Amino acid sequence: MNSRHEHFDTQRLNAISISEVARRLGDNLKRTGTLQKTCCPWHDDQHPSLVLYERTNENRCHCFSCGKGGSVIDYVMQHEGWTFQEACQWLSTEFGICNIQATSHTPHPKPRPKLKPVEPAYTYIPMEMVDELVSVENSLCQCLMRMFRPEAVEWICEEYRIGCYSMNNQDDYTVFPNIDRQGRVCNLKVQHYNTDPSSEHFAHSDQGCCYWLGSVWAREGRLPKDAQFRSSCLFGEHLLPRYPDSMIVLVESPKNALFGSLGFPELTWVATGSKVMLKREVLEPLRGRDVIVIPDRDAIEEWTKTLRGMTDLANFTVSDFCLQQAPEGQPKFDIADYIQACLMSDKRPSAPT
Ligand SMILES: [Zn+2]
Repeated sequence: MNSRHEHFDTQRLNAISISEVARRLGDNLKRTGTLQKTCCPWHDDQHPSLVLYERTNENRCHCFSCGKGGSVIDYVMQHEGWTFQEACQWLSTEFGICNIQATSHTPHPKPRPKLKPVEPAYTYIPMEMVDELVSVENSLCQCLMRMFRPEAVEWICEEYRIGCYSMNNQDDYTVFPNIDRQGRVCNLKVQHYNTDPSSEHFAHSDQGCCYWLGSVWAREGRLPKDAQFRSSCLFGEHLLPRYPDSMIVLVESPKNALFGSLGFPELTWVATGSKVMLKREVLEPLRGRDVIVIPDRDAIEEWTKTLRGMTDLANFTVSDFCLQQAPEGQPKFDIADYIQACLMSDKRPSAPT
């Protein structure tokens, strides 16, 4: 008869909307699709990983990072460091739910612990780990060596810190580091290229996926297991402060930037890494600069439209060069394809401006 459960209507308390409870406790909820998320009170969560479920007959939380979670009462206990009794008392008072047997004392939420920064705390990869890999032995540089002077290839390899990595039984994967303007390494993209000059796919990436070394190293334990990597970094971003007066060229793939730098070294070439990374937060480092944008043939329309909304950021000039130069039947033609085609037929590439 004296069980603590009898003082509170726990069924009703656990039925109070868990997102409303989180809000009253001062959480900033984040909505992803139909789900709401907040920072997990069971671990030092820097990035909301606790999902709040509020479907019919279900009003609970679960953390996809540490695996913990529970009911509304469990959440309040963990969030505030309260006993079961204290959590039930606060919920009853806060939401006006009558206790089966009222008790006297109502706790107040404690001040929020200072362990939740607004920005996720990104993991940056030590530069030594990048420096160890820098080498022209990788598959893409091997291809470039056949088209450009070796000293020039060595130079861009140093500039962009291009590396060589062994994986999947091949020892010449190409490593493209994303280094930000503060010189911090955000992540490293790894891809393999066809090195057979007689193949029509020569200097093109092999079918299949690219890899991100940050995640590979986190899995292997070389970086913290819960590392969060920043994806909003341009390839070549670290070169922008180094060449403050240079005209910038913005392209999609890092490979395009390397071909561009070799073909037109007087320009500073940077790459978004993918079509969808043409976003304001990614392009912020270009602020105030003169930027020629050379989208791949299949992205000209989309990129032109997107950049129309960013005229305040930089002086963007979008070029349809890849459309003008593309042979029939090559919808994915890019600036690297153009430069490669010129060199293979002993023609001098004309400037894409
Ligand atoms: Zn957690």
